[in-house]
Amino acid sequence: MLKKLFLSILIILFLLLSIALYRTFSHTPPANGIITGEVISIDELRASQNLATSIRFKTISYQDKEMFPYEEFNKFIKWAAITYPEFHQAMQIEQLEHSLLFKWQGSDSMLAPILFEGHHDVVPIIPGTEDLWEEDPFAGVISNNRIWGRGALDDKSGVIGLMEAATYLIKSNFQPKRTIYFSFGHDEEVGGSGAALITEKLRQEGVQLYWSLGEGSFVNKGFFPGIDKFIAPINVAEKGSVNLMIIAKAKGGHSSTPPKKTAVTILAEALVKLEKEPLPGSLEGLSAAMFNEVSKHMPFGYRFLFANRWLFGGILDSQLSSTPVINAMIRTTTAPTMLNGSIKSNVLPIEATALINFRLHPRDTTESVTNHVRRVVGSNEVEVRFLGGREASEISSWDSPGFKIVSFALEKVYGEIIPVPGLMIAASDTRHYSKIADNSFRFNPFYIVPEDMTGIHGTNESIEINSFISGIKTYVEIIREGSSN
Ligand SMILES: [Zn+2]
Repeated sequence: MLKKLFLSILIILFLLLSIALYRTFSHTPPANGIITGEVISIDELRASQNLATSIRFKTISYQDKEMFPYEEFNKFIKWAAITYPEFHQAMQIEQLEHSLLFKWQGSDSMLAPILFEGHHDVVPIIPGTEDLWEEDPFAGVISNNRIWGRGALDDKSGVIGLMEAATYLIKSNFQPKRTIYFSFGHDEEVGGSGAALITEKLRQEGVQLYWSLGEGSFVNKGFFPGIDKFIAPINVAEKGSVNLMIIAKAKGGHSSTPPKKTAVTILAEALVKLEKEPLPGSLEGLSAAMFNEVSKHMPFGYRFLFANRWLFGGILDSQLSSTPVINAMIRTTTAPTMLNGSIKSNVLPIEATALINFRLHPRDTTESVTNHVRRVVGSNEVEVRFLGGREASEISSWDSPGFKIVSFALEKVYGEIIPVPGLMIAASDTRHYSKIADNSFRFNPFYIVPEDMTGIHGTNESIEINSFISGIKTYVEIIREGSSN
């Protein structure tokens, strides 16, 4: 009897393993030939110098509108007009505050337009880190095959790259069939009121975009284990954000006779509970589509796991959750950021508070997150107060013409590359434009390696010249194809 049971278990294990192995060997990318594009000859030196020059304008945006160095913005706008005369002549131009909207009229006005957006404002240098920069962040230095300075990646490369690409097409006598808009915001880093104004203007004119492409993630290499090919996460959605205040209440009094639990310890317990019970997250929908594609290119071990999510789903979810960036892609994150207790060392607080910032996965809403937190920590002693928030964006289709055009363009320029739908974990101006677009994508066609990440909003922001040029060429392909069909 025991022998029979043992044998049955063995057979079941053997069957499971066979299915798992079969699935692993079928979990491979399709063997398509790579599409090659025509040669696009960009004047690399001139383009790099133009990006370097654009970095010298200190177009820093601040939460306080009074602090904007508007003179720098004016100088930048004037310089762009002189540096890209063909671009400025071919377009109708509209300036809203210090944001710019360019319209390149297509020959077929029945077709819905497309829009490309970027922003020419940059974040300040973190005080005290100036000396850590290898090159002055606003000198626009080119050295070691890189263009250095604030905005090199975020997002002057986007703005200059788009003007370079369109100029190339204008000089080659290209005429768009579908109308194209280029929109460059002046305050993306502090909320994007410029992008909101432009969106509102277009809406009033009755414009509904076929699709839009704005800043987002980059072509990258070296972020995923075991893959040495370029990966292009084209973001099809953007996370939302909620701030909640957790307020723990107690009696207070003199610190010489504390009760067993003070407001501070009650608060601390609440925070630990929240850490132990994060918002649920797993590989499904958008995240599943992304990892499904990427994992086809991974070594055997990873393919074995990803091809058999029916068997290893639990292990995979907890593995993925242990890396902060990937964790942020699969769930709503919980980040306590500001704490407050007593105002004096010998006074027990009657209230201790923690502000928690949640970044919303599209599957959650500001309401569902607030309810989750109330369920986990809410009590007579702990109040959960909603301070404000923004829902995650809608999810655009990765089976749509815009997504395919961007993917093909990347392949033409980069050769072997893996385009996958991605989730934007930061905010961007696209959340405004997406209100008037059928589909919206958040992606920069420049490539980065993991070390480049610390430069964005941090120290030593820079872009490799080759990366910048490849991005311009990709824009050429996207604009040409996108406005022809
Ligand atoms: Zn940006």
